[in-house]
Amino acid sequence: MNDFDDLYMEVILDHNKNPRNKGNIEGHTNHADGHNPLCGDNISLDLIIENNLVKDIKFTGSGCAISTASSSILTEAIIGKKISEIRHLFEDFHELVTTDIEKNNLGKLAVFEGVKKYPARVKCATLAWHTLIAAIDGDEEVSTE
Ligand code: ZN
Repeated sequence: MNDFDDLYMEVILDHNKNPRNKGNIEGHTNHADGHNPLCGDNISLDLIIENNLVKDIKFTGSGCAISTASSSILTEAIIGKKISEIRHLFEDFHELVTTDIEKNNLGKLAVFEGVKKYPARVKCATLAWHTLIAAIDGDEEVSTE
């Protein structure tokens, strides 16, 4: 592991220990539960979507460090963004963790690049995103299996 990886791991562990935007939103407009049976990760998302814009998002659930950190960093990344932007961001994030295509536009989300070396971990890292898209599309339940 080089220093770069260490820095990324530090960010992931920090978000796992001190998750941002954790909790429920009373009066949310969208909600979904996501499950990753392979690892045992479960997360729930509450969102407030107005005028095709995510005004607020919070998450609850339990899972491994990767899935918790991914949920936490996702909430920070998408608050205030348009739904169309979020769909593009998910495509870019998915490419980041599954391909060697270089991505320079992902900010803090780039810390998950290393998971592509561990295919089982890709599901941990993308669970929050699949759950987010389900919530946006009105599906209340999603599984990575
Ligand atoms: Zn996991």
